[in-house]
Amino acid sequence: MNHLKFNRTKIVATIGPACEDKETLIEMIRQGLDVVRLNFSHANHTVHEKYIKLIREINEEYKTKIAILQDLQGPKMRIAELKNPVHVQPGDIITIKCDTHIQTEDYIPIVYDTFAKDVNEGDLILIDDGKVELTVLSTDKSSTVELRVDSGEVIKSRKGVNLPYTRISEPTITDQDYKDIDLGIKYSVDWIALSFVRSAKDIHVLKELIRLKNGKSKVIAKIEKPEALEDIDAIIEAADGIMVARGDMGVEIPMEDVPIWQKRIVEKCNIAAKPVIVATQVMESMIENRRPTRAEVNDVANAVIDGADAVMLSAETSVGKYPVEVIQAMASIIRKTEQEADSIYYKNMFIDKADKKHVLGAAVIVSACTLAKETDAHAIVGMTQSGYTAFQISHCRPRSNIFIFTNNKDMLCTLNLIWGVRAFYYDGFHSTDATIHEIHEFLKNKGLVTKGDIVINTASIPIQERGLTNMVKVTRIK
Ligand code: PGA
Ligand code: MN
Repeated sequence: MNHLKFNRTKIVATIGPACEDKETLIEMIRQGLDVVRLNFSHANHTVHEKYIKLIREINEEYKTKIAILQDLQGPKMRIAELKNPVHVQPGDIITIKCDTHIQTEDYIPIVYDTFAKDVNEGDLILIDDGKVELTVLSTDKSSTVELRVDSGEVIKSRKGVNLPYTRISEPTITDQDYKDIDLGIKYSVDWIALSFVRSAKDIHVLKELIRLKNGKSKVIAKIEKPEALEDIDAIIEAADGIMVARGDMGVEIPMEDVPIWQKRIVEKCNIAAKPVIVATQVMESMIENRRPTRAEVNDVANAVIDGADAVMLSAETSVGKYPVEVIQAMASIIRKTEQEADSIYYKNMFIDKADKKHVLGAAVIVSACTLAKETDAHAIVGMTQSGYTAFQISHCRPRSNIFIFTNNKDMLCTLNLIWGVRAFYYDGFHSTDATIHEIHEFLKNKGLVTKGDIVINTASIPIQERGLTNMVKVTRIK
């Protein structure tokens, strides 16, 4: 399957019952899907294994490079199973107990062992994305908490609970997450996203775990807690990518603070050459409707203009009525915005001199992107094993196509999340001239370059050593 409709800004979509059949997925990929997200807050291992195998089967059969992003649940608090929804009104006093047994008339059970221990008198508790707001009146510090309802009408089963300003004691990686991570590593998922990250240390712990188990997966930090915003620079440095998780963020911090944080985080990630995903409620109304709202259209366009590497769909594709149409709509908004918004191109054309290990490679890549800009090049070609060259070229946001050649099979799908990047397997590595020629022929055969196009190649000489990028070549395709 040739990616006929290629956009630079990538689309991540959550798989679920609404799109789990092969034909629907293939149609979503045709419309521009790049990364499939497995949401480990839902479904069991059997289901997720089935999804992983299906994506891999499609990649094999259609020569696509759809990446798999495993999204861990993390320490998400939830109301337990309720017999009936509990109707409340402002002023009501209710009891929440750390107890997952079926509810009695007297209290509401919560799936979170240390809830009573963690909260303090006066703390704010939000249920169901803030639809119900409560204040803690008292806690026995072991199992039982009394609260006053400040607003809201109904508390339902399994709804999320947020404690915005309470320091929770549960570790960021939960027992369930450890089991899920094992599954992710077993299948070598491309990306593992950690929820409710609070500090860079959380990322170090996950990376160390992956390393000890010989895993290849890269790590995404989901930013959704105020503590993460306080430590944002160190988290961006520690992680391989970032997700602006606006759903929980919009409850954990005042909702009006989210747009500015989105822009700040995206900008910081752009500068640091770390991919960043803008997530949640992006096309929310398309869960039910065939067309998005005008505000949603604007949201996608603004994420593109902010500099996001990817935009993400959650319930829109996992349980929504229009999983294919939502990708189609999103792709067409991205396409139009990328055509018109000149401000998104040629950014970060500077060299981080403090990064001694990479300074020369980075300098060559910035030069290649400058050349591409000056010559209106059709494409920039990079060769990489670690992926570094791909991240660096993308970070300069060239208007030219970015074609990456690698002999590292683990990188092929991983790079599909990165802005503008299209990766291909290549294991030739003859002389530099022969390699460049071979790559040009390959791109010509695929219809990705044509006679007369200007192509900028970056590579490492001598090519057999596969060292840091140290040369640039300009070619007009014959
Ligand atoms: P979730 O994360 O969908 O796993 O909660 C995204 C968010 O909170 O925005
Ligand atoms: Mn979340």
